[in-house]
Amino acid sequence: MSEASRHIVCPNCNSVNRIRGGKDARKAKCGRCHQPLFTGHPVDASAKTFAAHIQHNDIPVLVDFWAPWCGPCKAMAPVYERVSSEFEPDVRFLKVNADMEPDLTARYNIRAIPTLMLFRKGNVVAQQPGALDAQRLRAWLRQHIASPLPASQAS
Ligand SMILES: [Zn+2]
Repeated sequence: MSEASRHIVCPNCNSVNRIRGGKDARKAKCGRCHQPLFTGHPVDASAKTFAAHIQHNDIPVLVDFWAPWCGPCKAMAPVYERVSSEFEPDVRFLKVNADMEPDLTARYNIRAIPTLMLFRKGNVVAQQPGALDAQRLRAWLRQHIASPLPASQAS
């Protein structure tokens, strides 16, 4: 990431914070609720907080659509947790419980659980049905956060 400032959505109160370029976002606290902006853990999102995160974050947002009854989801949970601590503060990791948020799973046409979906500036840039191990998750993420946005989506 460059020296440009970035907008980061607080995982606690969902307000938008502006982090100046060069500042370590891992140490930044929310201007409103004073909680850390990054905790090294994925953030459980509802439909409302999901919208705030994908629309207002300048960093890519990765979403894990999971369900409590899904064995592969349980197997991937510690992997997702570990990789989130590695990629913060360059990527925001969210978790969406598909059973609790049927509107979101319908809107994004989620047919497999788990499904990983990567957003940049509110747009879906990559989608991965099925669980990944840590090595493949890292590789998949690096590939898609590094690729340039399509011209139509660049601002
Ligand atoms: Zn906050």
